[in-house]
Amino acid sequence: MKTILLKNRPKGKPQTSDFEFTESEKPVPQDGEVLLETKYVSVDPYLRGRMRDEKSYIEPFKLNEPVESAVVAEVVESKNEKFKKGDFLTGMLQWKEFQTNTGKGLRKVDKDKASLSAYLGVLGLTGLTAYFGLKRIGELKDGETLLVSGAAGAVGTVVGQIGKIMGCTVVGIAGTDEKVTMLTDEYGFDAAINYSKTDDMTAAIKKAAPDGIDVYFDNVGSYTLDAAMNNINRFGRVVNCGAISLYNETEQPTGPRLETTIVKKSIKMQGFIVRNFEEDFQEGIQQLGSWLQEGKLKHEETIVDGFEKIPQAFIDLFDGKNKGKMVVKV
Ligand code: NDP
Repeated sequence: MKTILLKNRPKGKPQTSDFEFTESEKPVPQDGEVLLETKYVSVDPYLRGRMRDEKSYIEPFKLNEPVESAVVAEVVESKNEKFKKGDFLTGMLQWKEFQTNTGKGLRKVDKDKASLSAYLGVLGLTGLTAYFGLKRIGELKDGETLLVSGAAGAVGTVVGQIGKIMGCTVVGIAGTDEKVTMLTDEYGFDAAINYSKTDDMTAAIKKAAPDGIDVYFDNVGSYTLDAAMNNINRFGRVVNCGAISLYNETEQPTGPRLETTIVKKSIKMQGFIVRNFEEDFQEGIQQLGSWLQEGKLKHEETIVDGFEKIPQAFIDLFDGKNKGKMVVKV
């Protein structure tokens, strides 16, 4: 069976040569353990941060050790009375085809309620990031104007849809014409901007939202954040969810550069980590699950086939190759 190790700390954009595949025997579960077979692996932009040797909210990956991310796995053998053969579990697991685990920190998922991959996206951490970021940090209110960047991705598609469920005007920013059309035609966004074809983002946002922005859900950082701030309304809120445009940069820009806007317009800007809301995850999963069942929420995903494609699928996030949640099916 195969395992994927982090071989080098990437410099700039990650390369497949930063990862190494090893072969070993399938492990045998001890008392209290289960043997898990990996079914779906989540690849996420935040993993790039864990590849740096830096202190953060989560431990950096160690060199020559397995990478880990959210995974859905099947119990193929159980020596733990809480789990039986055929159960599907999700949680943070290593990039291995098979692994043993005590089940601590893993939760069972029901494949009859949603597809297994949905538990890595809309019913997993990215759905919860959208839900809690928008509700608790953005404090989005019915009828407001919401702008979201990274809009066609895993978090972004859910953010925009929640905005529509709440009767808000929603504007999305994404990197291709195909994504922009998907947002307006399939997801009901009121407008969408292709940033890769736009020289003046401030003007483009103004055109799409002439009355200004009440909440900006920022997934990309940098100049898009500046342009959003140029359009923000009084008492606006900025949800600093992520800054993918900076993750592969070796020099980080200083900032924020818009203190005057923040003061003059009484803006609230706040970052967050979805795990801050861990105690309330059940609320989020329940709400997202009901919207999904009622057909109010659509669930976009890009599924790549094959364990050996995991590193490339991760790298492809930085080239915008995904629509919705990027997941690898093993
Ligand atoms: P996505 O599914 O959105 O995938 C990444 C997308 O980012 C790509 O599809 C691409 O779309 C876009 N992108 C890549 N490079 C750039 C760039 N240089 N400038 C602008 N856009 C770029 O990933 P997620 O939904 O998983 O994550 C979205 C954001 O949310 C990330 O910043 C991530 O770190 C953050 N996050 C934060 C969490 C938290 O707890 N705070 C938890 C989970 C995610 P395009 O074609 O549009 O460029």
